[in-house]
Amino acid sequence: MKNLNTENIIKDYATFAESAIRNRFIKHKDVLKLIKQLPADFKVTTAGYSVEQRVLNLIEWGNGPVKVFLWSQMHGDEATGTMALFDLVSYLQQDENTELVNQVKSVCTLYILPLVNPDGAERFTRRNAQQIDINRDFLKTVSPEAKILKELQAAIRPDFGFNLHDQLTLWSVNGSKKPATLSFLAPAFDEQLSNSPNRERAMRVIADMFTAVTPFLPGHIGLFDDEHEPRAFGDNFQLRGTSTILIEAGGLVNDDEKQEIRKYYFLAILAALHSISTKTYQQQQLANYFDIAKNNKQIFHILIHQIRLNGIEVSIGINYEEKPMAKAGATFKNYTIQDIGDMDNLSAYHIYQGADLQVNGEVLLYENADFQLLSKGEIILSFKNGILESKL
Ligand SMILES: [Zn+2]
Repeated sequence: MKNLNTENIIKDYATFAESAIRNRFIKHKDVLKLIKQLPADFKVTTAGYSVEQRVLNLIEWGNGPVKVFLWSQMHGDEATGTMALFDLVSYLQQDENTELVNQVKSVCTLYILPLVNPDGAERFTRRNAQQIDINRDFLKTVSPEAKILKELQAAIRPDFGFNLHDQLTLWSVNGSKKPATLSFLAPAFDEQLSNSPNRERAMRVIADMFTAVTPFLPGHIGLFDDEHEPRAFGDNFQLRGTSTILIEAGGLVNDDEKQEIRKYYFLAILAALHSISTKTYQQQQLANYFDIAKNNKQIFHILIHQIRLNGIEVSIGINYEEKPMAKAGATFKNYTIQDIGDMDNLSAYHIYQGADLQVNGEVLLYENADFQLLSKGEIILSFKNGILESKL
């Protein structure tokens, strides 16, 4: 097996991407439909049921001894991992991809559990129907979804685990000040952030993933916050013998629906499967994992420089919070003023600056954005009680 030809994979992406999924608002019924269409070499079994009795299906594929468990959307409003998993499932069925697919098939058996939190996805909320955060429920296991995930790990005893999430779009990459479009982590299994051969395996695979995806997203990939969370699944699976990798999708300019991010998320998973099946990760240096820049918060959604407020010149940082609409097939964004002052060292998805900028309306810290921004007398940005009325 040669190196992974990432350029060709990205070039051909549209030919195999799962076309039935076009946005983040995937529902359980959409996932069921895709699972029903799978060919016979994808073995589907019932893993259990959500609080509201939606079935969780486990998809098994491959004949190899290395067991790889991938699960997505423990948080109902974090759909990028689910999209990427169905792109992967589609990729595995394409004849043109035979060499890599055969390699993975002969070395690995994949266990895929998409959409762990279907009740949350229905409402586009983080938590399940019991208002429980499934990824903080490993120890008490009061939610049926956490119980299913925990029992699957104990039964399968996977060698590798992929915990697929989305993070806030306000995370950036230290040094680059770019949005952290993807973040990786080999979660720690104790407070001391100790290493073990098991955790180090995950780190080495991440170093391979980072190398594969960086050319497409330079400065956009970071290491997620490395703090031990005793209630979380990644930390506990790491402790229990599964080399666990966390992937977080963040933001990218002009990609609110995350259809670009999804492509690179898929590539990261495929690069990991290439690394695992060819065992190239065994040659990776641990230093290449620790050299990945960390996530930080040095960006805003909108940054306006050179504004005169009450006789002084300031910058204004504005962020939105995304909230599900009643029908949950869309969201709305509530913009608030999050900082006022010197922000010359910070960045944003959208930056406005110029000596001719003027604000019409009141700018109040932590309040809804409710003003117009003018350039040479023309309105270039307009908010009404927290809602954006102009285009960015
Ligand atoms: Zn999450």
